Amino acid sequence: MTTFDDLEIWWVTGAQLLYGGDAVVAVDSHSKEMVDGLNKSSNLPIKIVYKGTANSSKEVEAVMKAASNDEKCVGIITWMHTFSPAKMWIHGLQQLHKPLLHLHTQYNAEIPWDTMDMDFMNLNQSAHGDREFGHICSRMRIPRKVVVGYWQDKNTQERIAVWSRVAAAWADAQDMLIIRFGDQMNNVAVTDGDKVEAELRMGYHVDYCPVSELMEYYKNVDDSAVDAIVDEYFELYAVPQGLTKDDKVIRNAAKAELAIRACLVEKGAKGFTTNFDDLGTADINDPHFVGFDQIPGLASQRLMAEGYGFGAEGDWKSAALYRTLWYMNQGLDGGCSFLEDYTLNFDGKNSSILQAHMLEVCPLIAEEKPRLEVHHLGIGIRKAQTARLVFTSKPGAGVTATVVDMGNRFRLIVNDVECIKSKPLPKLPVASALWIPQPNFEVGAGAWILAGGTHHSCFSYSITPEYWEDYAEIAGIEMLHIDKNTTIENFKREMRVNEVYYMLNKALK
Ligand code: MN
Repeated sequence: MTTFDDLEIWWVTGAQLLYGGDAVVAVDSHSKEMVDGLNKSSNLPIKIVYKGTANSSKEVEAVMKAASNDEKCVGIITWMHTFSPAKMWIHGLQQLHKPLLHLHTQYNAEIPWDTMDMDFMNLNQSAHGDREFGHICSRMRIPRKVVVGYWQDKNTQERIAVWSRVAAAWADAQDMLIIRFGDQMNNVAVTDGDKVEAELRMGYHVDYCPVSELMEYYKNVDDSAVDAIVDEYFELYAVPQGLTKDDKVIRNAAKAELAIRACLVEKGAKGFTTNFDDLGTADINDPHFVGFDQIPGLASQRLMAEGYGFGAEGDWKSAALYRTLWYMNQGLDGGCSFLEDYTLNFDGKNSSILQAHMLEVCPLIAEEKPRLEVHHLGIGIRKAQTARLVFTSKPGAGVTATVVDMGNRFRLIVNDVECIKSKPLPKLPVASALWIPQPNFEVGAGAWILAGGTHHSCFSYSITPEYWEDYAEIAGIEMLHIDKNTTIENFKREMRVNEVYYMLNKALK
């Protein structure tokens, strides 16, 4: 069960009446067969709903308006069966406010050389119909994904699947509320930015909630609810000898989790941030003390696994991006997590970066069963015994991403990384990953720094750069991808070209 179940992607076939009504009837039945075939392939996460042929400007406009207003519809696939004159798409495309995928395919696979006649050709002429449609999209500067391939091929279906997940996550982001418990960590630049522009561009809304309000939830947490959550901890995680269910630190961690979840549910929020300097009453010896006794790190770890966006130290951009990442990742192998560049390991060809956080790493990336542990944490306003899940991540290839505010635009930075085996950290009991950024440590980290990337990022094993490319296309934001082919020289050139492009782009709007 994923939240994709109720969503739809609409399929519209471009046609026209030039070839007679019979041709359109055949087009219609071909389209139905193709949509059925795609839905039955089990390669697509979201069902495609066939919306018929659009044969005129009026019909195009009607279906585009309907798609834009339909709650379930997260995107639209167009395919030009016959030569569909593209001027008839102008008004419709002007009214389309959903992600667009243009599928360049054909009902028939191989040319039947010996039998092909004009009738056959009339029913299999996407070769030029799709170019006409492509032209008007380019002429109108319509953002879209173009997928080229035979509709029955797995590779074609997988590319549609990627875009489908991104389109669904985009819809999710248009209704995304991120709650900040406390403000940004003072003085930090990279995690801050323009929240108004973020809402305009990426859809999500960022509000704050005073920690005093969160404490009202904390005070009202029921003991029996704490019992149930602690039972769950002891079932799901490895528990060291001596740690019992009545341990005060564990019970308070559970209470914090219940309080944060209840607050997020009541507000309808999909993500949150915390700040380790803002945890309720400052002085724990105050007779009126109402506050967390520890940083609610275990809560953040578990809420991330549940799908809530999370960013530490007030990092609302990472919270929103993590929610989008988790949303796209639903049902795929390999997990995802918020991570932080922690410590460098200079080791020749294996030079790598330890990824961790003082507490908040999502257990979905764990290689082994996470261990529930309590240790002293000497950071933030509350230097105290603190519960957390400890584990190392699975080795393997993955991708990490971040969004930064460049002042005149948002920049998505994506880096392919290779997770390698980490070592135990007996004196630093935190969850961690260890990776080599591609193409290698020097170029990968160097390009990331030149691009102005954060120390926080959102990592996953399954969400490939193609997902992020589709996301950046839909959002209309810059994307820089650091991969095995990146050189610093070319990367700098790309950034300089982009600087001019976005400056002009803004000026023209
Ligand atoms: Mn951090």
